[in-house]
Amino acid sequence: MLVTPRAQTVPRTLLAEMSARTYQVRTYGCQMNVHDSERLAGLLEDAGYARAPDGEAPDVVVFNTCAVRENADNRLYGNLGHLLPVKKARAGMQIAVGGCLAQKDRAEIVARAPWVDVVFGTHNIGALPALLDRARHNAEAQVEIVESLEVFPSTLPVRRESTYAGWVSISVGCNNTCTFCIVPSLRGREKDRRPGEVLAEIRALVAEGVSEITLLGQNVNSYGVEFGDRYAFGALLRACGEVEGLDRVRFTSPHPAFFTDDVIEAMAQTPNVCPQLHMPLQSGSDRVLRAMRRSYRAARYLAIIDAVRAAIPAAAITTDLIVGFPGETEEDFAATLEVVRAARFAGAFTFQYSPRPGTPAADLPAVPKAVVQERYERLVALVEEVSWAGNRALVGQQVEILVAVGEGRKDAGTGRMSGRARDGRLVHFATPPEVRPGDPPEVRPGDVVRTTVTYAAPHHLVADAPLLAHRRTRAGDVWAAAHAPDHAGVLLGMPAVGAPLGSG
Ligand code: SF4
Repeated sequence: MLVTPRAQTVPRTLLAEMSARTYQVRTYGCQMNVHDSERLAGLLEDAGYARAPDGEAPDVVVFNTCAVRENADNRLYGNLGHLLPVKKARAGMQIAVGGCLAQKDRAEIVARAPWVDVVFGTHNIGALPALLDRARHNAEAQVEIVESLEVFPSTLPVRRESTYAGWVSISVGCNNTCTFCIVPSLRGREKDRRPGEVLAEIRALVAEGVSEITLLGQNVNSYGVEFGDRYAFGALLRACGEVEGLDRVRFTSPHPAFFTDDVIEAMAQTPNVCPQLHMPLQSGSDRVLRAMRRSYRAARYLAIIDAVRAAIPAAAITTDLIVGFPGETEEDFAATLEVVRAARFAGAFTFQYSPRPGTPAADLPAVPKAVVQERYERLVALVEEVSWAGNRALVGQQVEILVAVGEGRKDAGTGRMSGRARDGRLVHFATPPEVRPGDPPEVRPGDVVRTTVTYAAPHHLVADAPLLAHRRTRAGDVWAAAHAPDHAGVLLGMPAVGAPLGSG
């Protein structure tokens, strides 16, 4: 095993040699990781690797790990264990582990799983191809972790998963110190990209046919702190409004303590910024928020929501909630339920607190598991009740849907397609009948349709009414070309991501 200071360039001879090698990236965790995986895929393709066809064993498996979720390490070592016999049976196969867990556990990964070839961290994903090459050349595991970001990941090659929607990173890292969160120690202090670079990337995406972008950062509305402009995020939203061809702008995640009125004004006054806000609450109890070291209070959170709804009446507001933070009493939990009722959330990612080694809260006495479970069930039931009421209010209303891939598990059986409304709600809609059996679909992923909501469930809407409008888009054309019978390549849709950044 070798701990090396930095990666080198891949020699051309080796590039040629590995030109036929295939890869697979397995992603865990938040949108930041999903986007990093697009960079990892781009880097590998730039270095001559090809994506492994579905169902075929790849030559290189890359795990992009997450340290935020419970038992992340057990899951990783379990998966690595399953791969050992596969690797033994396949000469030349390599396994690489990157992401937050790799940044945290470093050389421990190859100590526990010596069949791993490469370990790289969150700050040096660009080193992956060189490290794979060096591990092959030296027949020795390569562990390279650096302490701060060397190259902003957005400057690296990328293989986008979607023809119609793209992630655009505006910052990485976080300057906060929430006591439950491991992110600051693994992703480092906040680093902001310059607005000009962000906008250039957005324009390039739009030129390729993308019509929706999501601005990504651990704490998007502290964007600008690094270059001394506290109004930079609102200004960036307004600048997105000037990008021709860009239909939808989303962002995740804002931190309530940093939410300023100019951002609400920019959201309301910029037509392509979607009427949606995902703003982590974590707890409705001021006492717990203080213990979490989150500097806003419940009243401040609700005041932001009121201001957003006053400016954007149709805004769908979603959140993240933690149940059972150490010391949480029934009274604290009741305060969370109260805020959930008052906020009328359209949805929430709910988590049972579990300690993350290395965080300040990890050593605090835990709330008994059974108590946490019982509170969690009450919270989930209330979130469903509130979000279902919000969804039912939309029955009979028109909705504009950006057609997606992979958002409707039952679509094949129901004859529907699925996509997202402007406010982020998931909608399954009836498709027009085929003109002739076997014809290519009239509506393609990436296209935009308008229809009427006919049914509401707690987590989705159904629109079984005839389409009112169908706009064919460049992204839809790209999808159709990639799925034409004589096309050899495979384009997949943006994976449905079930978890937020674990941040904000
Ligand atoms: S929860 Fe969000 S704001 Fe708090 S430290 Fe983690 S990344 Fe930063």
